[in-house]
Amino acid sequence: MATRRRRRRRWYIDPRLKTGALGAALLVLVFAVGGALLARRAPDPRDVEAPDYVQEDFLTVNEWSRPGTELEAVNGVVIHYVGNPNTTAQANRNYFESLSSGQEGTYASSHFVIGLEGEAIQCIPLSEIAYASNTRNGDTVAIEVCHPDETGRFLPVTYDRTVELTAWLCREFRLDPETDVIRHYDVTGKRCPLYFVDHPEAWDAFRADVAAEMEAQAAAEKNS
Ligand SMILES: [Zn+2]
Repeated sequence: MATRRRRRRRWYIDPRLKTGALGAALLVLVFAVGGALLARRAPDPRDVEAPDYVQEDFLTVNEWSRPGTELEAVNGVVIHYVGNPNTTAQANRNYFESLSSGQEGTYASSHFVIGLEGEAIQCIPLSEIAYASNTRNGDTVAIEVCHPDETGRFLPVTYDRTVELTAWLCREFRLDPETDVIRHYDVTGKRCPLYFVDHPEAWDAFRADVAAEMEAQAAAEKNS
């Protein structure tokens, strides 16, 4: 009867190779952890430049609509509707500017206004606060959206631009559309943006569209 010989395997590894592999593994680990930390840290709002489709038309610094107060962190995006049917983005921007006289005694503004043709005007730099979202003025970016009628429903081209800009902000400031994109209503209970208060399912769809747009933008960036 033949006895089966146990074959002993013995792997010989050059100690220099061992040290080298260990070093490489450590290096990979350091880069992975460092990269993850960097990726998670949101940028300084002063370093962030808006996309090309955004037209910059900053308000003059004034007590009523552009106080010049530093926006220290961007922890969310607040969506609003202008509440004045059929007005353009420019008209709403000019309204904020007109408040600077103080005659109306109204404090109001927004970082961005999206118009009926999908035009986007930036009224306030991302490094400063706007007077739009009450207790969340200090840590959010505000987007006012134009609409053709009293229902407050956005036109498709306006909707798409709002999704695009919101997705860009979420990517830039590492925000989650599920939790960090909110309605003015979620801050104060004000019926703004009206259509998304009246139709919660449309609001859910909006945030889902923002999430999908974030992925599309990331994919487009990878391919460019
Ligand atoms: Zn509002």
